[in-house]
Amino acid sequence: MTATDDLLARRNRALGAGAPLFYEHPLHIVRGEGVYLFDSNGRRYVDMYNNVPCVGHANPRVVEAMARQQGTLNVHSRYLHESVVTFCERLAALHGPQIESVILTCSGTEANEVAMRMARFATGKRGIICTDATYHGNSEMVGALSRLGRAPSPNPWVRAIPFPETYRPIAPGLTGEALCEAYLAELAKAIADLQESGEGVAAMILCSILANEGLPDIPDGFMPRAAAMVREAGGLVIADEVQAGYGRTGQWWGYEVTGFTPDIVVTGKPMGNGLPLAATAASRALVETFRAKTRYFNTFASSPLQAAVGMAVLDEIEQRDLLPNVARVGAALKDALAQRKGVSATIGDVRGHGLFVGVEMIGADKAPDTVLAKRVINTLKDKGFLTSNAGAFANVVKIRPPLPFSDADMAEFLVAWDETIAELAA
Ligand code: PMP
Repeated sequence: MTATDDLLARRNRALGAGAPLFYEHPLHIVRGEGVYLFDSNGRRYVDMYNNVPCVGHANPRVVEAMARQQGTLNVHSRYLHESVVTFCERLAALHGPQIESVILTCSGTEANEVAMRMARFATGKRGIICTDATYHGNSEMVGALSRLGRAPSPNPWVRAIPFPETYRPIAPGLTGEALCEAYLAELAKAIADLQESGEGVAAMILCSILANEGLPDIPDGFMPRAAAMVREAGGLVIADEVQAGYGRTGQWWGYEVTGFTPDIVVTGKPMGNGLPLAATAASRALVETFRAKTRYFNTFASSPLQAAVGMAVLDEIEQRDLLPNVARVGAALKDALAQRKGVSATIGDVRGHGLFVGVEMIGADKAPDTVLAKRVINTLKDKGFLTSNAGAFANVVKIRPPLPFSDADMAEFLVAWDETIAELAA
């Protein structure tokens, strides 16, 4: 038995078998630095998956801020604390004027739950519209939005619309305006259905770039027109920026890229570079209605520690001017992979925004090839590059490195990518 086998056996006992693990032969990592992870044998891997360490693993500014704050004061939120206020002010100021106040939480799940409850309190309705291949979190209420497969939800307050995409259009042959209209008609049906059932429309919640749906190219105009339809029906628009936000697309927010204005914004994963930190941001009126209707308290959230770390992450993104790096390297990476589409018939589509690229692996007649996607991911891992998969069919290779990912990292990756595709074709 190798040391890795032994650790795996202990893990199965200690955590229960079934606790998710990446890769056929799991990776035993012991250290991270910048965009690199190191395994127990000292082997270096380029991290092309993790968006939580957005400013790099073990980022010195973040580590220093964390240690200093923990050594000074870390306490719950029911005291006055300057940097908690400043952090929330800074966060709100990164959005348009409709976003004024912030509720901090410890996970994207919690922040989405707050957002959904906020919408329900404000509208007096229960209905939530989402897509049919989404994931927004794991609590009972938020988890009700995601299902295995794309089957209708058993929950009377959920309506899951087909996610809008151009690659596998809802009706074969539809493109452009007609395709956009077809998806909007599905939304209209969901709205009408919720209203007829008496649930009404509290909100539509969407990841701004439909990350878990596989980063589809969204028909032009869908997002702003969908947002307008939901508001017309009396509902609010929640942008889930847990994956899309914090510079991932080369803009601060995914909704800037897909062109809509949310009423409520949820952020998470990258906010604390690994410290549990998430947020629900909205107008002051929405936040105060929520606070008036429920005494929301979250023991570890809104702490001086969260504020110190959260601000160190913002400082790092701003002072290192990472957004232009994301836009430039991300565009080059997407272009380079898109050029390979013509070379290998198994690459069906290359999509994405900034440093978030999806490569859709297919077989004959565009059939999603989940097995091939997994083989690509495992082979890339053996070559020292960590990716994973996403999408409604789990056949999209998901490439999402920390934001300081460089041209040199990209060049190394493309060599490994070409070798991988050639080996798997042989
Ligand atoms: N929203 C989206 C779009 C996500 O991808 C995730 C997690 N993958 C969540 C919310 C939930 O975040 P957390 O795991 O921090 O609860």
